[in-house]
Amino acid sequence: MIRTLLILFVLSLLTPAGFCAEQSFDLAVYPTVAWQGKVVAVRLISAESVSEVSGSFLGNKFNCYRSGDDYQGVVGVPIDQKVGHYDLKLFITKNDGTKTEISKKMKVWETRFPFSRFWLKPARNKLRARNIINNEWAEIEQVLQVEGQEKLWQGKFSWPVKARVSQGFGHREIINGKRAGNHRGLDIAVISGTKIIAPNSAKVVFAKRLKAFGGTLVLDHGQGIHTLYFHLSKLIAKVGDEVGKGELIALSGNSGISSGAHLHWGMSAHNLRVDPLQWTKYEI
Ligand SMILES: [Zn+2]
Repeated sequence: MIRTLLILFVLSLLTPAGFCAEQSFDLAVYPTVAWQGKVVAVRLISAESVSEVSGSFLGNKFNCYRSGDDYQGVVGVPIDQKVGHYDLKLFITKNDGTKTEISKKMKVWETRFPFSRFWLKPARNKLRARNIINNEWAEIEQVLQVEGQEKLWQGKFSWPVKARVSQGFGHREIINGKRAGNHRGLDIAVISGTKIIAPNSAKVVFAKRLKAFGGTLVLDHGQGIHTLYFHLSKLIAKVGDEVGKGELIALSGNSGISSGAHLHWGMSAHNLRVDPLQWTKYEI
């Protein structure tokens, strides 16, 4: 008798009990806490066939893409998002054209961003003029807003160059004694001329020498995910190139707004800057 009950219990665990008519959809997130400056990977598990899925979280909209039987998406958490509980919503268009939405309460939690102080010589400091930065950033943003449908990256990202981190993501910068903004990338201390590799498969969508950001490359990893490389001394990959993980793309340098030789490595999820380190530690 006990044996029969045990078998029935195990069988009940194996049956997808949640998938009755009202609950055809389930939403899984990873990690389960939304940290400031990091991303959340979203997965829609569906018992029905659907034709389109998109999402919204903290005012950021994102597309979800088919992955096997499920739909997956990635959304970033702004660095300055107030700690609290917020709805993550998915908008689902079913195959018959009807629409539905599901949501999950997510906790946004604090990431500690230390202060970092550095000095810029007058000639470098001049490059911080609003009009220079705004114009150059507008140019970069044009490629960050283009979302390729195909997922080009696979597995964890490797470091574009492995060396000491001289300034982490989100650090609160004090430049020449004055409070500036938060650092939107990861600075890796390497001497000029160090080889920089693609941390994952991608297409090169931007390669240009800029004043503020110096030698600049942007890789498009597909589905709204881009990586950025600033202060380069030599651009090796060209716009339109398809690069594989580990392929040489540039040489590091000290061009643009820089207080010493290093690589600035940025990561963008649907045009929101997020911490690249999360992508090197976890498969997203
Ligand atoms: Zn930087």
